[in-house]
Amino acid sequence: MTLGFDTLQVHAGSRPDPATGARQTPIYQTTAYVFRDADHAAALFNLQEVGYIYSRLTNPTVAALAERVATLEGGQGAVCCSSGHAAQIMALFPLMGPGRNVVASTRLYGGTVTQFSQTIRRFGWSAKFVDFDDVEAVKAAIDDDTRAVFCESIANPGGYITDLDAISEVAKAAGVPLIVDNTSATPYLCRPIEHGATLVVHSATKYLTGNGTVTGGVVVDSGTFDWSASDKFPSLSAPEPAYHGLKFHETFGPLAFTFHSIAIGLRDLGMTLNPQAAHYTLLGIETLSLRMERHCANALKIAEWLEGHEAVAEVTYAGLPSSPYADRVPRICPKGAGGLFTFRLKAGYEACVKLVNALELFSHVANLGDTRSLIIHSASTTHRQLTEAQQIAAGAGPDVVRLSIGIEDPADLIADLEQALAKATA
Ligand SMILES: *Cc1c(COP(=O)(O)O)cnc(C)c1O
Repeated sequence: MTLGFDTLQVHAGSRPDPATGARQTPIYQTTAYVFRDADHAAALFNLQEVGYIYSRLTNPTVAALAERVATLEGGQGAVCCSSGHAAQIMALFPLMGPGRNVVASTRLYGGTVTQFSQTIRRFGWSAKFVDFDDVEAVKAAIDDDTRAVFCESIANPGGYITDLDAISEVAKAAGVPLIVDNTSATPYLCRPIEHGATLVVHSATKYLTGNGTVTGGVVVDSGTFDWSASDKFPSLSAPEPAYHGLKFHETFGPLAFTFHSIAIGLRDLGMTLNPQAAHYTLLGIETLSLRMERHCANALKIAEWLEGHEAVAEVTYAGLPSSPYADRVPRICPKGAGGLFTFRLKAGYEACVKLVNALELFSHVANLGDTRSLIIHSASTTHRQLTEAQQIAAGAGPDVVRLSIGIEDPADLIADLEQALAKATA
């Protein structure tokens, strides 16, 4: 039986509790699990039997979330992590090594740009940033040390949609996996694996949980990449000394990446999601499609209204016919262009600051993907340390504000913007 998305978002990974019949997935608030006997314990530690040992590795509540997100993305397995940024490190960890690089899009969440351009250097890894609209440039940037290609499906700060089909072709031809950050789109709007992605990463902090309560992350593996086709991925294809020479790909096949991420990644890096946070994210995902429909419908209404406002110079929503990315929406995210976009005010920096101060329903916060509508003026906050040229290149120039449209009554959101725009441009 193939079930629809709306059914899977409620049921995938979550069965009645075998011990108590509890219908909602219980929060298994436990650190450890009793072994049946010493042989059972030995089999678990040798990866000969799958089961629960210790909650840094696996936990039943967290496992329910992993199965649900893997199912919604159409993947073979998933590993949950303590944040979206943890998920990005966990995705790269089995692939990279000192001297290796990732070819990454210039249009990424600001925190990811910092993580990739600064922090991963401490591990001897590096990133090469390329404009992913220039497919030839992506191809040219991939060299013998490249171990992954990384982009977002609907990219921050909004309005940009990556041609995943074209990029995955390039990655495939070069024999390296494509990692897609699907945070802004969610699997309801975009399913990167169907466009050739090997791994999908999420900040579950955003739309998956959906109401600004937790931080979490997920890495989903498509299970389709042949890690043994070259000698580029020894963590997955070569004997692992810490498990008596076990080869993950040979032993676990399409689950090799997921098993490695748990048995080595979570064991030694420890970026584990806690069961309470997994519970909130499981609750959030139950209504994902309903919320995303409303996020998209509201974003379109507000983008249209702003585009007609005399104080506004430009609106970057891909759902608008005026967007240069409008033609990618039906192919890449057919159910809508998401809830995030930016707009520019003709009156510049000072007017943006006044606008943010004058809004009453919109909250000025460094977050996105909440049920509540959010706004941020990047140039005076998240992108403050950059030069004006860098801000403009990142789509966060002095005259730009970013909106994350919530699920409220759109008429109220428009009224709030109307009164604040009047004050900002008076
Ligand atoms: C928020 C975000 C991240 C980082 O996730 P955290 O949960 O904050 O660590 C990564 N990518 C995108 C697109 C995001 O919006």
